[in-house]
Amino acid sequence: MTGSFTLAPLPWDEKALEPVISAKTISFHYHKHHQTYVDTLNTLVEKTKYADMKLEEIVRATAGASDAGDKKIFNNAGQVWNHDFYWRSLNPNKTEPEGKLASAIAASFGDTAALIAELAEAGKTQFGSGWAWLVSKNGKLAIEKTANAETPMAKGVNCLLTVDVWEHAYYLDYQNARPKYLEAVLGKILNWEYAGKNLAKEDQAVRAAAE
Ligand code: MN
Repeated sequence: MTGSFTLAPLPWDEKALEPVISAKTISFHYHKHHQTYVDTLNTLVEKTKYADMKLEEIVRATAGASDAGDKKIFNNAGQVWNHDFYWRSLNPNKTEPEGKLASAIAASFGDTAALIAELAEAGKTQFGSGWAWLVSKNGKLAIEKTANAETPMAKGVNCLLTVDVWEHAYYLDYQNARPKYLEAVLGKILNWEYAGKNLAKEDQAVRAAAE
């Protein structure tokens, strides 16, 4: 390992999401997959113009790159960012949408169940590896899905929550049954408190830009 990117600590104990996601899945996913993206990113950016950039800046600067080296950097930087965001999108303690988030959900989807149904559909229909997202655009909430390491953040879209739908996220617990993984995660361990904080970040960014 050569560079300065590190594996951010998990926000909960590795066993904390059981039975929805096993400690075994978290252990492989975090210590093997996520760690490898961090290590590979550090190796790839060494002695490049990206070496001193922040992670978000690297993701934005390399998104859609045609250069093969930049594509590799994007894939690893995107996956480091996406995984950090995914762990924080999950919470073993049951949370509910509150305040501005609850109002935005009512305005954009009708209710939380409709949002979850749309998020589940995005995760199920993402062909191959990727991610399902809850995002906000000027306070209006929307669902997106991305392939591989792609992320709405790269296009400047404010992300509220994400769910990893790569097979490594669920195969040990659910085998090929991605819909069962999605049903359990979306119904039981989504971190609505984190989504609310991320929605407030968009408000702050809009106010800062207006000043
Ligand atoms: Mn993953």
